[in-house]
Amino acid sequence: MKDKTSCQRQDDADRLRGLRDQFQLNDGEIYLDGNSLGVLPRATAARVQQTVAQEWGQGLIRSWNDAGWIDLPQRLGDKIARLVGAARGELVVADSTSVNLYKVMSAALGLVAADAPGRTRPGRTRILSERSNFPTDLYIAEGLARQHGMTLELLEPDEIPDQLDDRVAVLMLTHVNYRTGRMHDMAALTRAAHDVGALAVWDLAHSAGAVPVDLNGAGADFAVGCGYKYLNGGPGAPAFVWAHARHADRMHQPLSGWMGHAAPFQFTPDYQPAPGIDRYLCGTPALLSMTALECGIDSVLAAEPLGGMQALREKSIALTGLFIELVEERCAGHGLTLVSPRDPALRGSQVCFAREEGAYAIVQALIERGVIGDFRAPDVLRFGFTPLYTRYADVWEAVERLHQVLAEGLWREARFQRLAAVT
Ligand SMILES: *Cc1c(COP(=O)(O)O)cnc(C)c1O
Repeated sequence: MKDKTSCQRQDDADRLRGLRDQFQLNDGEIYLDGNSLGVLPRATAARVQQTVAQEWGQGLIRSWNDAGWIDLPQRLGDKIARLVGAARGELVVADSTSVNLYKVMSAALGLVAADAPGRTRPGRTRILSERSNFPTDLYIAEGLARQHGMTLELLEPDEIPDQLDDRVAVLMLTHVNYRTGRMHDMAALTRAAHDVGALAVWDLAHSAGAVPVDLNGAGADFAVGCGYKYLNGGPGAPAFVWAHARHADRMHQPLSGWMGHAAPFQFTPDYQPAPGIDRYLCGTPALLSMTALECGIDSVLAAEPLGGMQALREKSIALTGLFIELVEERCAGHGLTLVSPRDPALRGSQVCFAREEGAYAIVQALIERGVIGDFRAPDVLRFGFTPLYTRYADVWEAVERLHQVLAEGLWREARFQRLAAVT
């Protein structure tokens, strides 16, 4: 059985422990919400300040060339590529996850129509996804289904393989589920989709910087992902988009803006898409946000000399496993049910528990006691574990405070019941 001292010993022996120094963390606070908004790297404020004061203030318009602003979407893309099994030149940073999903889903639907004569629409009218996928993904797919006269069908994870048939155009999934932390087998499901002539689109919002991903190894078709979660890019950080090289020069994305043009500064009246992934750019990049995002990505890449994503994954599994073990032991009899997979191979870097009553209020009472997790309607307490800065002793302490909130019924106070706009 674990105790506080054994957790501290695990921290002392942790080869990754130095990575924590990269971050500005509040004293006494345990942050278990890096899956929603990553913490602030210490390097970010000075870097953004320099971009504002020098590059913008002094360099002005010259900085698009002199400070390399114009190449930032590709330069950051190449860094993220190292985390998700993509090659240089295959991934760019742009827009938001929602917007990028619209682009790649549109491209995928266009490819299916072009690629499969005899099996084209109206034959392929199905888009498959998961019922508990993140809402924006479902809303974007719903809008596209309506636009293309197709149907969006929502399934439970186990139903997906059986539902794949030659009427499916696209299988669109989030690799790690935001609510349960359950992780799909990207390679197997991509293969199953390809076997029936469908394409596989993956959302890596809860995967990039959290679990090892091998997009090329899995043969995936398209992927998007988020900059402000495990990549620590800051609130509303730009997102990323990837397409497999086999689709690179054939795909059409509908937001054909000038930054995705082959030669934007020729100012020609007609659109000629840039080669490869660059055509997924639309308008002028959000420079200040990109600058902050680069510091966040660098904070994850700092693990490379220590074993990279594989080492982070091992620590993540140890942290989430410890949390499950301690909660079930210490908080037994308090109505918490594990929602996340118990098998670490099926689990991302978060742990969720459901509770019939008071889930929101318990999270609020915990936050007041310095343990920051979040609530997902209707009944889920969600805790994210970022191995870059979370310590084993933090897990111990978080469970102690959770036990206190439950055992003393602290969450029943009226002020914890008031639902805020963001939960
Ligand atoms: C966080 C998240 C998003 C966020 O999309 P935005 O466009 O940045 O608001 C999208 N999809 C998934 C699966 C997410 O977890």
